Amino acid sequence: MLKFYNSLTKKKEEFKPHADIVKMYSCGPTVYSYPHIGNMRAYLFMDNIRRTLKYNGYKIDGVMNITDVGHLTSDADEGEDKMLVASQKENKTPWEIAKFYTDIFMKDVESLNVDLPEHICPATTVIPEIIDFVQGLLDKGYAYLTSKGVYFDISKFGGYGQLGMDVNSKKAGARIEVDSEKRHPADFALWIKAPKEHIMQWESPWGMGYPGWHIECSAIGKKYLGDYIDIHTGGVDHKTIHHENEIAQSDCLEGHKVVHFWMHLEFLQIDGGKMSKSLHNVFTLEDLKNNGFSPEDFRYFYFMAHYSKQQNFTYDSLLSAKNSLKNFKAAVNEHKNGTYKLNEQTIKQYEEDFLNAINDDLNMPVALAVCQKLLKEAKSKDVYDLIMKFNSVLGLNFNVEKEEVPQEIKDMAEKRWQAKLNKDFKTADNLRNEISKLGFTINDKKDGYDIVKN
Ligand code: AMP
Ligand code: ZN
Repeated sequence: MLKFYNSLTKKKEEFKPHADIVKMYSCGPTVYSYPHIGNMRAYLFMDNIRRTLKYNGYKIDGVMNITDVGHLTSDADEGEDKMLVASQKENKTPWEIAKFYTDIFMKDVESLNVDLPEHICPATTVIPEIIDFVQGLLDKGYAYLTSKGVYFDISKFGGYGQLGMDVNSKKAGARIEVDSEKRHPADFALWIKAPKEHIMQWESPWGMGYPGWHIECSAIGKKYLGDYIDIHTGGVDHKTIHHENEIAQSDCLEGHKVVHFWMHLEFLQIDGGKMSKSLHNVFTLEDLKNNGFSPEDFRYFYFMAHYSKQQNFTYDSLLSAKNSLKNFKAAVNEHKNGTYKLNEQTIKQYEEDFLNAINDDLNMPVALAVCQKLLKEAKSKDVYDLIMKFNSVLGLNFNVEKEEVPQEIKDMAEKRWQAKLNKDFKTADNLRNEISKLGFTINDKKDGYDIVKN
């Protein structure tokens, strides 16, 4: 039985999709700066769910948004649009900013071998759908117009606060600057009227403007998945504002519950505290690579903690993941040509144990322990085959050819090549020596180079 913890009911529940295909929505990145490894934990979580569903035989129709407009510096409609702040800082248009960071994001998730959703949708490509959605809420009396834009009226939705938001704590108070036209401090913007100098703006029935942040997810979910969504994922930071607001918008427009399982990932911490772009204490996959770690080391690191628990990042713990991964792969390869035969009952037991672990709300530490136990069996091709089967969930790369040259060596070789092109022969020679010490030789060709294992 496949069970997931549902933040809506606050219980671990049996998961069954509404129809044959699982409809799944994942909150995507806000593309205003480099994605960090905390963000990557969120997409490994999405990957973990998708691969587990597939392992259970389900087909998936999944969507992820890309926030390229409307996410203000505070999640609750205060401050400026993050895209605009970045565009001023970097002296680029918001469109250039969005493209640049979306490309980096895609490269990062691909390097982690994340099983990507079937649709990836930037908010700016669904402005007409967003406008229709907002109009629908106005028509049904769930929204109202002010001089600043269109707001959702939370008092009209009895279900507000289902994910745990304490609405009354948002009373007009010292720290929260209250817009006097808002009927309740927690009412939130669906559409924001834009001043002339605001670069991203569109025509709407309420004048030139741009969408609030929350509405894009409801509109994109509706466009691609319809009015019944089996699973919605995101980080815990989105639970009590962004997701409360998504529920309010979607359930009020459709007149019934739209999302049935809300799944939230706990944060990747750094030195026991929050890692976030706004606190400037973030690491990127690039930083990890520069310190000799591959994206796959980070993927393995993800498996070492349950998604519902905070995971503390240190280079020491990443090193331990890297070593475990190396040992894991070496052990798997030793079974490749093994002649011992596992009996059918034993094979079935391992399959059952692995399935029980992943189906118990994605218990990856236990799933890994099952693999470790399996690897201790006498050398057997059966073990190898089982691990390959389980690997459709783990998503590790067992392609030996590809692995022969580790990413760090490739990166060093590329740096050496660039140094050579720049006629910095000293750096180029030093890098060649370092690479050689690590067991690889660079053979220069006319317009490039080969890396050969010594
Ligand atoms: P953002 O780009 O800030 O909208 O975040 C993209 C995703 O990353 C969201 O699902 C966030 O909840 C998640 N996220 C942000 N910071 C962290 C973190 N430190 N650990 C885990 N997930 C995070
Ligand atoms: Zn969202």
